Amino acid sequence: MHDTTRIVRSGLTRPVAGEPLHAGPVFAAPYHAPGDPTAIPYTYARAHNPTWTHLEAAIAQMESGEGYTASALVFASGMAATTAVFGAVLRPGDVVVLPENSYYAARVLAQEYFAKMGVELRFAATAGNAQAEKLEGAKLLWIETPSNPTMDVCDIALLSEAAHRAGALVAVDNTTPTPLGQLPLTLGADISIASDTKSMTGHSDILVGHVAVRDPELHKKLDQWRTLTGGVLGPMEAWLALRSIATLPLRLERSCANAQAIAEFLTTRSEIQSVLYPGLPTHPGHAIAKRQMRYFGPVVSFILRDKTAAETFLAHSKLLTDATSFGGITSSAERRARWGGDAIADGFIRLSAGCEAIEDLLEDIAQALDATR
Ligand code: PLP
Repeated sequence: MHDTTRIVRSGLTRPVAGEPLHAGPVFAAPYHAPGDPTAIPYTYARAHNPTWTHLEAAIAQMESGEGYTASALVFASGMAATTAVFGAVLRPGDVVVLPENSYYAARVLAQEYFAKMGVELRFAATAGNAQAEKLEGAKLLWIETPSNPTMDVCDIALLSEAAHRAGALVAVDNTTPTPLGQLPLTLGADISIASDTKSMTGHSDILVGHVAVRDPELHKKLDQWRTLTGGVLGPMEAWLALRSIATLPLRLERSCANAQAIAEFLTTRSEIQSVLYPGLPTHPGHAIAKRQMRYFGPVVSFILRDKTAAETFLAHSKLLTDATSFGGITSSAERRARWGGDAIADGFIRLSAGCEAIEDLLEDIAQALDATR
């Protein structure tokens, strides 16, 4: 069976006469739990919830590959999932190798908390697999490909091999591609983590994150972290996520095709200084991306002349909602440098292609670019 068929059907319940096709969210704090708690599947909702279980089964199925079965844990956000990996793996004296140009909040978390608790941080670029040079004595290699927002690409298989030779675990932030677009565990990583707030759920209305692993011992540590830290996913969000994931194959195919067409169109426009999209053959990471990704993702970054040009572009677009985040069914864009934290130009735009008709998007982008002249 195709993985897309399995994803579309992942919210279905077992066929029991009179029962609904799709279960509703289970709202609970304690569950009925007399006697020995270890014999009862659900006791207290900070540790487990049937709606999580259903969502985790759907995600685990997506993250699994030939020769292995993944397990997944869901979190209240992508950052909660990131924190769980750092917290479950890193101890004082350990070394973590991070990308210098990845999602900035992960770097800030490492700098503000884990470094101050005695974890050594080493940074290197995503492009050119530069992180491979920093692995000696490392406990964890954290990579993000394509990286947000500069869309740099690294080779997951090559870096995983190098990290394992050095005795390090490998975690991949797989937010932009989703497990339908790229399978880090199949490529050799130990941990696939993602913000499912983006394309995975795709409606710009919930925060969700997950971690998927092959190793049951690592799963246990992450599970314990989640139960003890307690900032868990609400059942309503878990249910909405499960419902949203069913349409991932449709949404991702359309938004990535739109992103490719937008990227190609942007290369023809004189207002653009450069277009950063791994689907373009001119992108330095294109060959690697083509090998390890099924789609090149919905995010297209590009650089306009300056801050004024970028703001003029956003103000004149009628279809690109000026908002942060990406991966929604409706297209959006923002001037990324307004946040700080990334080494990018003032005119840097991060655009997220949605599922609208491409003719409408291209017409809108063209007129918004005309306005910047
Ligand atoms: N990882 C990446 C690549 C992201 O872009 C984001 C959010 O933008 C996160 C992690 C954090 O996810 P969340 O906002 O769901 O906490």
